[in-house]
Amino acid sequence: MTNDTILVVGGAGYIGTHMVKDLLQEGFQVVVLDDLSTGHHDLLPGGDFIQGQIGDRAVLDRIFTQFSISAVMHFAACSLVGESVENPIKYYRNNVSHTTELLAAMRRHQVNHFIFSSTAAVYGNPKIQPIPEDAVLKPTNPYGTTKVAIEDLLRYCDDAFGIKSISLRYFNAAGADLSGTIGERHRPETHLIPIVLQTALKEREHLNIFGTNYPTRDGTCVRDYIHVTDLTRAHLLALTVLMNGGDSAVYNLGNSRGYSVRDVIDVSQKISRRKIPFIETDRRPGDPPELVADSTNAREKLGWQPQYEDLEAIIETAWTWHRNEAKKNECICKG
Ligand code: UDP
Repeated sequence: MTNDTILVVGGAGYIGTHMVKDLLQEGFQVVVLDDLSTGHHDLLPGGDFIQGQIGDRAVLDRIFTQFSISAVMHFAACSLVGESVENPIKYYRNNVSHTTELLAAMRRHQVNHFIFSSTAAVYGNPKIQPIPEDAVLKPTNPYGTTKVAIEDLLRYCDDAFGIKSISLRYFNAAGADLSGTIGERHRPETHLIPIVLQTALKEREHLNIFGTNYPTRDGTCVRDYIHVTDLTRAHLLALTVLMNGGDSAVYNLGNSRGYSVRDVIDVSQKISRRKIPFIETDRRPGDPPELVADSTNAREKLGWQPQYEDLEAIIETAWTWHRNEAKKNECICKG
């Protein structure tokens, strides 16, 4: 048990809800700040909930005054590569300006521990796979660029104000909590695994494979899928490091195994025992061909050990969640 209170910004989102559940299970007090622009209040497992924007100075001051916050975990970013290409201002406003306000509030209230959700998109099209943390940062889309900007700012905030941070560069978060009660719900959905499973559930006629002429094994993009509860375990380890006086750091979080879009479809067909129709279309702007993590540092320095190392195990949990969601939606419609 612990008396520490953690502010989870974006705690009603996909990774945020899993994080809140994990923190509560570990005995932390949790305060969630979320504007519900993409999050879902009905999926929140608990904690004190405040609806508001992360860039709202008054809201932030109220939270930091009312609660004795030991650390902040920040999940409230816009995170879609395609959308960031179409609307870069939205990405800079939310991911850079609002996060800067959050850090300014932490400074005003002397909260000095920050866990930041970064991304594999910071690397762009790296030459080396799996990608180590010290690879060149050359994002190919505004989403990745905004994350690099905050990683830079965090280094300066450590030097200037002593705010210690751990940036966790997620590869492709996937899967759902084993309970089947929380999982990935985006509206509209753009991520591959949910779209494939919704197609299996006949909620979509087919899915599009974005690009089949990439320089990869089967011509489709290769990603490193990492289970959401493995991600939240890494956050808990990072939090412990910071609360014990550890230094700022950056870690990749992935399984170090690459799966193509076609692999995801094949595995999903096997798990769902359904035929999943797809059509091959043009590339989606901003997508790098391959992103696979070298996560040696997280394993060695944080003691992180992912539990879900293969795609089948990950998709199995997502399938349970999506079937539950489909049943829920059916009841509401019949309702
Ligand atoms: N993808 C696809 N069809 C879809 C959604 C995604 O072919 O309907 C591809 C996408 O181009 C990328 C991979 O699947 O290569 C993973 O995309 P996702 O949006 O899930 O995650 P990202 O890698 O962009 O963070």
